[in-house]
Amino acid sequence: GKNGFETAVPNRVRVAVRLRPRNAEELVSDVDFADCVELQPELKRLKLRKNNWDCETYQFDEVLTETSSQKRVYEVVAKPVVESVLEGYNGTVMAYGQTGTGKTFTLGRLGMDDCSDRGIMVRAMEDILADILPGEDTVTVSYLQLYMESVQDLLAPEKDNIAITEDPKTGDVSVPGATQVQIQDQSSFVRLLDVGEANRFAANTKLNTESSRSHAILLVQVKKTVRVKAGDRELIVLNENGTGSQLTKGIRAPTIRRSKLLIVDLAGSERVDKSGSEGHTLEEAKSINLSLTALGKCINALAENSPHVPIRDSKLTRMLRDSFGGTARTSLVVTIGPSPRHRGETSSTIMFGQRAM
Ligand code: ADP
Ligand code: MG
Repeated sequence: GKNGFETAVPNRVRVAVRLRPRNAEELVSDVDFADCVELQPELKRLKLRKNNWDCETYQFDEVLTETSSQKRVYEVVAKPVVESVLEGYNGTVMAYGQTGTGKTFTLGRLGMDDCSDRGIMVRAMEDILADILPGEDTVTVSYLQLYMESVQDLLAPEKDNIAITEDPKTGDVSVPGATQVQIQDQSSFVRLLDVGEANRFAANTKLNTESSRSHAILLVQVKKTVRVKAGDRELIVLNENGTGSQLTKGIRAPTIRRSKLLIVDLAGSERVDKSGSEGHTLEEAKSINLSLTALGKCINALAENSPHVPIRDSKLTRMLRDSFGGTARTSLVVTIGPSPRHRGETSSTIMFGQRAM
């Protein structure tokens, strides 16, 4: 892909906020309370209630309400990134938010029972498969989990601690040790995501960890053959009388264009209890969200146009190195719940999104 931080004016991160509807429990327990946020989608604004009479207003690139469809969320959050990937640029779509606010619903929902339920991963692949030329272009995917700075292969659970490598010349990041599956059709892709999800669950049960503490990363690599029209050239062909010309159709020179799309279901943004009451040692607690902290710093640096983006500080940001900023398109959806009981976490999620803009 044609990317990297070296580009003069890097693309900024586009940020959408999505509110999950009240769940069954909240419908009962919060019945006497207003939601902690009020959305003004036409104005792309969100109001966070501080108390009964005071609220703070925030502006986003998009505000998705509790009734926004999965289709609309895809179109707003991911479609521009997917289109840009099909044009040869790298791109990233990420979901950030407290556990239970809808990150996986937004990105990873398979919609096997109800098509309208399908999340961003499935819809993105549908658009990619529709665009490529079978037999000539290829789409390959890897599905990874990042937990405590270790990369695991969700398609081959025995592979652990996989290396992230970077081409010193081009800066292209790759994970050569990970399983790469070539995708031909939509249904095999959905099955593959299903297998990955089952492996994620099994791996976390075995290690007695929660999947909310890990990042799931879908890496889609697109290889397209592009026939560049060299341009119609005018050939001067002299007639017997010394005049006249003839138009030759441009010569088609095929070139290979590679780009990739990363779809990242980030670890829950809630604080890991440093006291270890959740069964983590202090070392674990520090390392669990190292990548999330590093991502926040990179997002800030990008928003502030800072020349120093600390991309090497974590595995997650190293993975994003060539698909974030620069000419790469990056879209972040921050997910929040309506409950006034989680106002604190909701507020810090909103602030994370605001810092990206
Ligand atoms: P996270 O991945 O952030 O922990 P999930 O995606 O697992 O959260 O969502 C938590 C629960 O809320 C799930 O049962 C999910 O189906 C439901 N949910 C999330 N977002 C929505 C939504 N927009 N509409 C309906 N249900 C949702
Ligand atoms: Mg989840």
